[in-house]
Amino acid sequence: MSPALLVRDVRPHGAAPVDVLVQHGRIAAVGPRLAAPPGAQVEEGGGALLLPGLVESHTHLDKTLWGLPWYRNEVGSRLTDKIDNERAFRAGSGHDAAAQSMALARAFLAAGTTRIRTHVDIDTQAGLKHLEGVQRTQAALAPWQQIQTVAFPQSGLLGRPGTAELLGAALAAGADVLGGLDPCAIDGDPVRSLDVLFGLADKHGKPLDIHLHEPGAMGAFSLGLILDRTAALGLQGRVAVSHAFCLGELPAAECNALLARIAALGVVLVTSAPPSRPVPPLMACRAAGITVAGGNDGIRDTWTPYGTPDMLERAMLIGLRYNLRRDDEIDAALDCVTRAGALACGFEGHGLVPGDRADLVLLDAQTVAHAVVARPPRRLVVAGGQIVARGGALLPGLPGAG
Ligand SMILES: [Zn+2]
Repeated sequence: MSPALLVRDVRPHGAAPVDVLVQHGRIAAVGPRLAAPPGAQVEEGGGALLLPGLVESHTHLDKTLWGLPWYRNEVGSRLTDKIDNERAFRAGSGHDAAAQSMALARAFLAAGTTRIRTHVDIDTQAGLKHLEGVQRTQAALAPWQQIQTVAFPQSGLLGRPGTAELLGAALAAGADVLGGLDPCAIDGDPVRSLDVLFGLADKHGKPLDIHLHEPGAMGAFSLGLILDRTAALGLQGRVAVSHAFCLGELPAAECNALLARIAALGVVLVTSAPPSRPVPPLMACRAAGITVAGGNDGIRDTWTPYGTPDMLERAMLIGLRYNLRRDDEIDAALDCVTRAGALACGFEGHGLVPGDRADLVLLDAQTVAHAVVARPPRRLVVAGGQIVARGGALLPGLPGAG
């Protein structure tokens, strides 16, 4: 058991300075001038801004090329071009989901991200290989960083026979969440596709997180089918829809009707706030009572050369995409990668009050909005009650070093 840790003189979300006492991996007390228990490690915060551990609600750790030589992207523009190219690349290049997921997860941790939901490709060519790789990272980093895996049919659910069985095997092998993908555009049979998918989730008792890139009316149709099944199977609070681009291009009345249903069913939305696609209306979703989480999606993979494992950068990109300028609006952008992210993914004990998991991020910033805009290196990161990074760099001794 690690000794108690007292972090002095920090400002939670920019509020008045307090001390934070950490014991047994949890926040034990928050208040001014706390006494250090005998043997406690004392860390001077120096008036730093204090944030809770950052949350990545949608990424693909298994695909990343993080740290590898530059990948020259000459991939076609269709979704199927990217899917087929990636599957062939991964089969032929020796790309290792264990090593790559570890490299990216460590970079996330150094930047203060202590919870991650990652989708992991399951297909008839690779089987469960990528999941097994990510699960090695998940287990190695578990004391510090909580990683959820989503069994994700990147190549479609119906088009390649055997995929549904593999998804079931992935859930039986410990995948935390069942993923889905474009039931109209990829599978071409949305009713059957979603019936199979929801049947699997129901059978295995797992939550769902469905990629929905489909535009406009097509996406709205699929979303309606998703909501129908969520209600029919009593999966309120257990379903996430990632991207939901269609919500950004529907007529207002149709969009608002869907938002009301989404809120009533406790379905959460996850956005990467891409600059090149329509996006769900963030503030209208929040006003409707919908939890909207933020994620990077893929980072430096065969799909995209872009991305950085820094959730403050994602919060900034959310702010830019939604034209958030007021400080309270930028607070909402940060909320997507902290409180709302934890809520969306079901990570318990997230926050900065006694009893919460001791995941602390200290930065040199005046306010939350300043932190999102300036994205300074993380001065100190505490994860699971232990100091894991200083000045933006992980301490030696953590798994995956070298
Ligand atoms: Zn994705």
